[in-house]
Amino acid sequence: MAVDPLIELHDVNKYYGDLHVLKDINLTVGRGEVVVVIGPSGSGKSTLCRTVNRLETIQSGTIRLDGQPLPEEGKALAGLRAEVGMVFQAFNLFAHKTVLQNVSLAQMKVRSRKRPEADRRSRELLERVGLADHADKLPAQLSGGQQQRVAIARALAMDPKALLFDEPTSALDPEMITEVLEVMQQLAREGMTMVVVTHEMGFARSAANRVVFMDGGRIVEDRTPEDFFSNPESDRAKDFLSKIL
Ligand code: ADP
Ligand code: MG
Repeated sequence: MAVDPLIELHDVNKYYGDLHVLKDINLTVGRGEVVVVIGPSGSGKSTLCRTVNRLETIQSGTIRLDGQPLPEEGKALAGLRAEVGMVFQAFNLFAHKTVLQNVSLAQMKVRSRKRPEADRRSRELLERVGLADHADKLPAQLSGGQQQRVAIARALAMDPKALLFDEPTSALDPEMITEVLEVMQQLAREGMTMVVVTHEMGFARSAANRVVFMDGGRIVEDRTPEDFFSNPESDRAKDFLSKIL
């Protein structure tokens, strides 16, 4: 399926001390693909995302981005974090900076854009996520859903090759979940490569090319959403689905 691989994990193993949290992970995400990762709490979903962004090191295996091994440190590592943007459950915005500044800062620092150019790009992206009128506010003046959309705009401002989302709507009230999922749906339609950890099965059904089900540090199933939801193969996936659907 993935004819043009962008993210490739090959036999990846990760330990926290004695705890084996990622076990022989093999996963390829093709350019333009949307892969939704689901699984019980503690199954290794966040760790998987964090290793791709090299927020965590791995003990064995290889991870490639666009054919290149992940850089280990320094400028190249900062570059990687720009190429593979990450959106977390907690929005991690700078509380004392305006929305515009939050979106512009990393562009100036990592992409070496001058402020006017960075601000122009930020305003474009704020418009795209429906927040054009909120550029000069502080994060605390926005709702959770709006803050998460700022975080998405900030990640997009780096012109990433891929975006990783780790439960981006889990901290949000129901009425705000939709507005964030709509932005993500739009990105998916525009061809953004995305890895999305989420419990939003509606999003998985409508936006995912593949669903990856993890349990106990392993990828147990990796299939199309149609296949996965209508006919999960493993007892563990059946059990998981019976609890959340
Ligand atoms: P998930 O996102 O699927 O809930 P995680 O990737 O967060 O799972 O965690 C996988 C396992 O690794 C869990 O057993 C968790 O307790 C453990 N873990 C996660 N982060 C750390 C850490 N920094 N140090 C030690 N153990 C961790
Ligand atoms: Mg997690």
